[in-house]
Order: sequence, then structure tokens, then C-alpha cells
Amino acid sequence: MVIKKAEHIISAVGPAQYPDTGLPEIALAGRSNVGKSSLINALVNRNGLARVGSTPGKTRVINFYNINDVLMLVDLPGYGYAKVSAKERQSWSELVETYLTGRKQLKAIVLLVDIRHQPTADDQTMIRFIRESGYIPIVVANKMDKIGRSQLKKQLDLIRTTLGLDESIEIIPFSAVKKTGVEALWQRIEESLPE
Ligand code: GDP
Repeated sequence: MVIKKAEHIISAVGPAQYPDTGLPEIALAGRSNVGKSSLINALVNRNGLARVGSTPGKTRVINFYNINDVLMLVDLPGYGYAKVSAKERQSWSELVETYLTGRKQLKAIVLLVDIRHQPTADDQTMIRFIRESGYIPIVVANKMDKIGRSQLKKQLDLIRTTLGLDESIEIIPFSAVKKTGVEALWQRIEESLPE
């Protein structure tokens, strides 16, 4: 996709603040620090659109980005940061579940995992939630630049097995730093949009 416009619309703390544009939405989910902000910047080819490296686990908002007046990228708050209280965890769940259930314009959910590691229990919960909500996940394995070429297949197999993905679901190897996988991910996103 040629990016002509990429604009942060709002950091929403609840449904009343979700933008009312009617544009189809693509949500991004993943652990804190997995590289969601970096991936958004790589996708839109802007360095400062999403904030990279902000305090993990502290972002209790849903960020909406208007892309070309064609779709919204919706950045869900990261999960899995150890140092959060039960109360914060609860507010995360409420915020994310409220968005993911019953948001009509939501067309696909991208789950971002770290290619170096076995997906966590939280990642497994998230993929289950995505599938139970009726979405086919788009799985992206980030930080590919951190592993050697010879490890690629083994790591993708580990992610596939741990997340219980059959061969019909492609895992997109990605590097937000090297901008590897950007085209492949845009293609999947565009395929998810209504005609
Ligand atoms: P977020 O918490 O998921 O939004 O993650 P960030 O985008 O803030 O990234 C967390 C850290 O991982 C930062 O230090 C990034 O520079 C780094 N990072 C993100 N993507 C990549 C990648 O593809 N390769 C490498 N080597 N580092 C990355």
C-alpha cells in the first residue's frame, strides 16, 4: 500500500471515544515490548507515528490510526508485563475485550509475537480469544533480524505448534528494524478489507 496519509486519531480509554468514521479496522495485539509501535511505524514508513519504547504495561489506551482514509490501524495495549497489579490487569481485559467483542468495523486481528521465543501463555490466550471471536488471526513473527537464517524454520515451527495453527495460516516473518515483511503484511491486511 502506498501511504499518503497516516494520522493518529485518538488514544481511547473506552468505547465512547472510539472514532465514528465507519472505516474498516485492523487491530494489532501482542505482548508489551514485542514491537507493535515499531511495526506500525514500519508499515506506514514514518519513524515517529507510534511511540517506540514507552513504559511497557503502562499504556492503558487503544490508539487509532487513520491510514489513507481507507482503514484504521488499531493498536491494542500490550499484555504480559509482569509488574502490573491485578487491578490493572483487569482494566486491560475490560478495555480489550470491550473493543474486540462487538466492534462491527473490526475486520482482522494481527497477533504479533517475538520470533526468538516460544509464544507465552498470554499469547495462547490471545489467539484462542481471536479465534473464538470468529476472526482468522494474521500472525506476525517480529524481530527476525535477531535470529540467523538457519533458525528461521525451527522458530516458525515452534510458534505454529505452540499457537496451534494449522498450515492454512501463514506466519509472516517480520523485522520492524529492517522493514522485512512489510509488503506481505499489507497484502494480508488488504485481503481482509471489504471490497
Ligand atoms: P511495543 O511495546 O510492542 O510497542 O514495542 P516497541 O515498538 O516499543 O519496541 C520495543 C523494543 O523492541 C524497542 O527497543 C524496539 O527498538 C525493539 N524492536 C522492535 N521491533 C524490532 C525488530 O524488528 N528488530 C529488533 N532488533 N528490535 C526491534
